[in-house]
Amino acid sequence: MSSVVTAYVALGANLGDTQATLHAVISELARLPKSQLIAQSSLYSSPPFGPNADGPDYINAVVAIETRLLPHELLDQLQAMEHAHGRERHYQNAPRTLDLDIVLYGDKQVRDERLTIPHPRMHERAFVLLPLTEIKPDLMWHNEQGQLQVLQKLLPSVAGQQITQQTAV
Ligand code: ADP
Ligand code: MG
Repeated sequence: MSSVVTAYVALGANLGDTQATLHAVISELARLPKSQLIAQSSLYSSPPFGPNADGPDYINAVVAIETRLLPHELLDQLQAMEHAHGRERHYQNAPRTLDLDIVLYGDKQVRDERLTIPHPRMHERAFVLLPLTEIKPDLMWHNEQGQLQVLQKLLPSVAGQQITQQTAV
């Protein structure tokens, strides 16, 4: 039997009733097989970020789950949820009804055509780092280069990004 791992999943949406979508998805995440939802951040809103990013503001959150799902099994579950919420991928960073990313899976490194963990852009996104701080302020992990990343030390580099914390979910 596979061991229990703490995984962090980032949620984002900027089309449709984003707040309702995120609330619904958090309860779906709480019902994932072989998993338990152990923490959830509040919702945050921020303008679209990254090359070609456009559309309405995003609502983001991060949850922590304890899971026995393997990384690709977890990705399958998350992609099924994205699909169920009507996601269409037109181009990278295109507006979307739901984006679910595995940001960390324990301290495991994964790199193949479907999955890169730790998520390669997590360290530069306030909408990932701030919710993470809320649920696990002392979080540390190793990046792809094997360097130890300390969440608190990354915060100053995203301090300039526009982001608003909304009500707790
Ligand atoms: P982004 O989340 O960077 O905006 P997309 O959601 O459009 O990009 O990318 C979707 C693709 O990213 C999926 O096909 C999936 O296989 C791949 N992917 C790679 N690493 C991850 C990860 N850690 N979490 C979720 N999807 C990932
Ligand atoms: Mg994604």
